[in-house]
Amino acid sequence: MPDLKPCPICGSARIARFRTAGKVRMPDLKPCPICGSARIAISRPQLDSCLVDCGDCGAESSDVGETAGAAAALWNRRAGAPAVDRDALVALLDEVVVIRTAVDAASEIRAEADERIAALAGRLDALLNP
Ligand SMILES: [Zn+2]
Repeated sequence: MPDLKPCPICGSARIARFRTAGKVRMPDLKPCPICGSARIAISRPQLDSCLVDCGDCGAESSDVGETAGAAAALWNRRAGAPAVDRDALVALLDEVVVIRTAVDAASEIRAEADERIAALAGRLDALLNP
């Protein structure tokens, strides 16, 4: 097996590799639980964490692992769960957006009402205390 060069970022010689009978390999990754794609990759966004993501729909593992093997185990645990009902998920998220929009609109109405009440209170005070 060829020697691996130190990390180009930090210079560390602690470079992880995965072996099976002397071969370098990546951990086996289950298909994406969202879209079923097999285009799954492990990335290392930070020096001490790895995460797994889908090359088709962009789904990411919600948990990061310290190593690629740990990240793969977390991904595979999630990937083994029943597939997400995508239509139901979209319907739920749409409902959240509708409620959020209504809350924002109600907040604007409330703020406007508070300003009008404050103005009326000021006029009332002026009438009662000339
Ligand atoms: Zn996917």
